Amino acid sequence: MHLVTHDDNGTETLGVLRDGHVHAVTGAATMAELIETPGALDKLTVAPEGTPLADVRLLAPLPRPRNVICIGRNYREHADEEGTETPAEPAVFLKTTTSVVGPGHDITWDPAYTAQVDYEAELAVIIGRTARHVDESQALSYVFGYTCLNDVSARDLQFGDLQWSRGKSLDTFCPMGPALVTADEVADPQSLDIRCVLNGTTVQEANTEVMYHSVAKIIAHCSRAFTLHPGDVIATGTPGGVGIFRDPPLLLGDGDEVVIEIDGIGRLVNRCRTEKA
Ligand code: MG
Repeated sequence: MHLVTHDDNGTETLGVLRDGHVHAVTGAATMAELIETPGALDKLTVAPEGTPLADVRLLAPLPRPRNVICIGRNYREHADEEGTETPAEPAVFLKTTTSVVGPGHDITWDPAYTAQVDYEAELAVIIGRTARHVDESQALSYVFGYTCLNDVSARDLQFGDLQWSRGKSLDTFCPMGPALVTADEVADPQSLDIRCVLNGTTVQEANTEVMYHSVAKIIAHCSRAFTLHPGDVIATGTPGGVGIFRDPPLLLGDGDEVVIEIDGIGRLVNRCRTEKA
C-alpha cells in the first residue's frame, strides 16, 4: 500500500495513493495513529473513489516523526569520495524532526548563514513496532515501511562543528515522501535502485545492495543502544556523487530542482529557494 498524508482544509489526513488518485480511508485518521495502533493497517478500508493527485496537497507521509535517526558513510563510494574509511559499525547521528517537509515543499536557506548546501539521496525506514535488543535476523519484521528522503546538508556548518547535527537540521532540510510504501510491498530493501537527479541530470546512482551496513543490521545496531519506537525514521545513508566532493563542487542554489528516486518506492521532488532570514 502507498500511504500518503495530505492537507485537507488545514487538517493532516491519511490517504492511499492508487492509480494516480488519493483515496480516503477509514480506520485511522493520521499516519501516526495508523503506525502506533497495532493491527490498524490490516483493518484499514479504502474508499473506491479517489481525488486526482494533482488536486491534492501532499505533506510528508509522517509529518512529525518521533526521531529522525541517520547513518553516515554507509556506501563505500561516498566514504571514498570523502577520503574516509567506512565505519566498522554504523555511524549514527540525529536530524531534528523540525527539518521535515513534504514533497513539493521548498528547501530554503539564508545564503548569509550557509553557502554550501548539498543533496543526499537516501532510503528511509519507518519503524512499526517497539524494538529493543533486536537480533539482525528478526530486524526487518520491525519495519512498517519505506520512503524517499533527502538528507539536505549545509556542508560548511556540518564540517565546522565537532559533529553533524546542526548542519543537517536547518528548517526544510529533511524532505520526505511522497508516499510511505508498506513493508509487504518491498520484498528486499537491499535491491532497490536509488538516484538523485538535479535539474534533470543524474548526480547520484546506486543500488541499495552496496550499502555497507544493511537495513537489518542498522536496526539491530540502533536497538542495542536505545529503544526504537513506532514512527521513528531511519535514514540509511547516501551513495557517492554528493556535490561537495565533486571537482568542481556542485552545490544547490536558488531555483534548483532536486529529485530523489527509489524504484518501487517513489519520486520526491523539491525546489530550492534562498531567502534572507
Ligand atoms: Mg546522509
